[in-house]
Amino acid sequence: MKDKIFFMDRDGTINIDTDHVFDHKTVQLIPNVAKAVALIKKAGFKTVVISNQSCVGRNYAKITQVDQTMNRVNELLLKEDPEAVIDLVLYAPDHPDQATNRRKPNVGMIQEALNIFPNTELENCYFVGDKITDPLTALNAGIPARNCILVNPNDDQVLQSETALDKAKKHNFAIDSSLFSYISKKTF
Ligand SMILES: [Mg+2]
Repeated sequence: MKDKIFFMDRDGTINIDTDHVFDHKTVQLIPNVAKAVALIKKAGFKTVVISNQSCVGRNYAKITQVDQTMNRVNELLLKEDPEAVIDLVLYAPDHPDQATNRRKPNVGMIQEALNIFPNTELENCYFVGDKITDPLTALNAGIPARNCILVNPNDDQVLQSETALDKAKKHNFAIDSSLFSYISKKTF
């Protein structure tokens, strides 16, 4: 059987986004996200976090702080639900002005994940994130638009930018309030 990957943005999708999240002591999960990740795993997906971390490129934080924060996110997920396992985490530390092919909405990190799980069929993959660049990254990589999900539309950045919702609608992306809200209604 072919593999399928559920790609997830991190900040604003798994944990609360406080604008550059790199303090492992204060990072907090979005309610019910652990249940959502556990349901995704039960549905047979590999779970891959794809995260822009420009805090490194901007010299706000070291990559070790980003790692510590991700370790804490994993710890919180597993504490809430032992089946909420993240299989792979990839970051793009690039400064936006010096973006490589890895920084979303470029597809470098998706390609890396596909090299690690080469038996993957993109047709059956999903990508969820709270910024319009997330579903656009997925679309750029060849994931079907119906499997590209914009969540957390109450997020200031999305509300302030009507164009994010407009773009999501134009591309026929799924739109929902949270990953758990989407997953709890979904049958794979
Ligand atoms: Mg985000």
